[in-house]
Amino acid sequence: MSVWSLVYEGFNPDEQGLREALCTLGNGYFCTRGANPEAAADGIHYPGTYLAGGYDRVKTEIKGKTIENEDLVNMPNWLPLTFRFDDGPWFNLQDFQIISYRQELDMKRGILRRLIRFRDDRNRETHLSESRFVHMRARHMAALQTTIAPENWSGRIEIQCALDGRIVNAGVERYKDLNSQHLNYLETSEVDEETIYLKVRTVQSRIELAQAARTRIYVDNDLQTLTRRTVSEPGYIAQRFSLEASPANAVTIQKIIGLSTSRDDGISECGLQAKKCVRNVYDFSQLMESHVLAWKHLWQRFDVEFEHERHPDENERAEMILHLHIFHLLQTTSINTMDIDIGVPSRGWHGEAYRGHILWDELFIFPILNLRLPAITRALLMYRYRRLDEARFNARKIGCRGAMYPWQSGSSGREESQEIHLNPKSGRWIADNSQLQRHVNAAIAFNIWQYYQVTDDKEFLSHYGAEMILEIARFWASISTYNSKLNRYEIHGVMGPDEYHEGYPWEEQPGLSNNAYTNIMAVWVLNRAVEILHHFIPEDRKKEICETLDIQADEISLWMDISRKMRIVFHDDGIISQFEHYERLEELDWEGLSKRYGDIQRLDRILEAQNDTPNRYKASKQADVLMLFYLFSAEELREIFDRLDYPFQYETIPKNIDYYIQRTSHGSTLSRVVHAWVLARQDREKSWKLFREALQSDVIDIQGGTTPEGIHLGAMAGTVDLIKRGYTGIEPRGDALRFNPCLPQELGRLSMQVRYRGHTLELDFMSNKMKVNALRAAEGPITVAVKEKAFELKAGESKEIAF
Ligand code: BGC
Repeated sequence: MSVWSLVYEGFNPDEQGLREALCTLGNGYFCTRGANPEAAADGIHYPGTYLAGGYDRVKTEIKGKTIENEDLVNMPNWLPLTFRFDDGPWFNLQDFQIISYRQELDMKRGILRRLIRFRDDRNRETHLSESRFVHMRARHMAALQTTIAPENWSGRIEIQCALDGRIVNAGVERYKDLNSQHLNYLETSEVDEETIYLKVRTVQSRIELAQAARTRIYVDNDLQTLTRRTVSEPGYIAQRFSLEASPANAVTIQKIIGLSTSRDDGISECGLQAKKCVRNVYDFSQLMESHVLAWKHLWQRFDVEFEHERHPDENERAEMILHLHIFHLLQTTSINTMDIDIGVPSRGWHGEAYRGHILWDELFIFPILNLRLPAITRALLMYRYRRLDEARFNARKIGCRGAMYPWQSGSSGREESQEIHLNPKSGRWIADNSQLQRHVNAAIAFNIWQYYQVTDDKEFLSHYGAEMILEIARFWASISTYNSKLNRYEIHGVMGPDEYHEGYPWEEQPGLSNNAYTNIMAVWVLNRAVEILHHFIPEDRKKEICETLDIQADEISLWMDISRKMRIVFHDDGIISQFEHYERLEELDWEGLSKRYGDIQRLDRILEAQNDTPNRYKASKQADVLMLFYLFSAEELREIFDRLDYPFQYETIPKNIDYYIQRTSHGSTLSRVVHAWVLARQDREKSWKLFREALQSDVIDIQGGTTPEGIHLGAMAGTVDLIKRGYTGIEPRGDALRFNPCLPQELGRLSMQVRYRGHTLELDFMSNKMKVNALRAAEGPITVAVKEKAFELKAGESKEIAF
């Protein structure tokens, strides 16, 4: 086993969807699932090519209502390549006898390979080897190379290479009742002897997307001149060619793709661009070299190495999965993302779950980027800035001021959450209230601040970040209501991160009151907003921004007041209530339900199918109160509680963790990441166990069917962040980079690189000491603090600190 390869031996139709998602190749501009080139969507295979941010809206009638969904569009498939021998059947995995089958995702180089030996009904044995990549630097380019080697026969091979635009969105079974036709065909043509061309346009968003495919055939490295026949129909174009092959004359087909869209910058027209890309490139291996180099550079920044104390085997697998997680993070959002207008989708550009929407998962994703390639975070934060007006409009729609970002965001920043969703367990369409999760706003403000802490990017903060944070603060102030009896502010009608609780079982209206996570995050934002105005942006900019947003002194006083008097509810002597009246809910019979249903991660669906609802129970899908211990150090939380004049004792954290962990089903893949994190210092063994479970989320499709619809990017990034930041206690705060390492017993050593304020630092952690080596620096010295011991570090210096 290699820590750099995800390997599958044998073909398994039941696992094909999962493999396709996990073997997706992409470059932050577009992604293509690891589907087989000889296959079309047929219930086993589901080819998918998704443009980052390539959305389209369509309407559907359901339950007498017209609903509009914005989908991430499955674009034309550039992969199709198949062949047959002497007029026999076209190659497919079902009708040929497979002698051996190996699929390998080489994450170091960003290449997907297949090696197949097969036999046909005339006992002809053939060896096929295939490699493909989506170029990490030349963002419009991808390539596929297939070599077909007869082993015991000679004869004619007919090859068909195509571009297929006859695609509908059909990647998620639950959405099958919804309109799924997003493409109009514009053009197919043969550009020259070697090149075919296809152009489509999305129905409503009118994104034009062009693909050009240049195919060259080699026999023993000799380029062949062959007569080609073009086959075309609306939305589809193929070229066919035939040649003789034998054991001594293997045939290699190189298919090189150019993909461009009407959204691209720096082009004349997308069709011209796609054609130009394939015209200019020399061959597969030359293109591959520059692709592999781009990955080498990325890995230098993002890799993590560790030594496992007890079980080297487990260590290797964990390292392989961490590579897989980093790999998919960098394919979803990469160097190519830095100058395009996209957010970071919770399920990658790997499938159609959540329709490619952007939720709050960036909270778990940005820390990894911040400390390695913060220019990507900046670009992703600009996605939010460009949608600030829409967020203002969203706030006004519910009678609030400021900016209210949507729970699910797509092209324009409009609320894209669905109004009803299907429970596949009961077959019922039910109201979807998830958009009441206003806490996404706090996450955006928090992310801006974290980016600033790592980079000290004052220009970004004062021109973009501050405006968003101030408008979000204004929203929190306007959604808060004053309870004069208690002399406290309250927030009503929201949902916390735990999506199982949408409202009170005794009330008709959805929404909860005083969700502790939301209220505390609101306090944090209000406090931060005031601090930014007073201390972090220059006077002239402060004046401009206050004039532009019409922020007056009395508004700032109100923010200060709310940040001191927000209400937090407690029960059972020191338990922070997830929301007001939480204590009135019933305890769930966890054991009974587990016995009856086995897997109860998706409790909501199970209960709804029994005409019951999780609203009645003390049962959470994922961390809610515990998110506070995930985001804040004990020190920061104490400050917030002191400010609010609520008690915060030493036991508060462990007591609340114990209480809520017993009442959580981990129905979201984010849940185990957060729980492993909050237990890192309290129960290292349990933390490691949860971390290991979180690692499995996608690689074994822990939820039984969700990964084929798209990876879980929050959990992927979250597990990497747990190793890199959680167990090392890295915290960029104030003007220092802080460390508070607490490695799990299983980890002997942990090494990585980080970027902090223009410095590249090499870090090496052991159980009782750490080493920090300042490799390069564009700036003056930085302050580093290891468990309260602070010191200055200049470029070229290194320090070893024992603890
Ligand atoms: C979780 C959300 C998350 C979404 C996308 C849901 O299951 O409850 O917190 O944002 O998945 O990852």
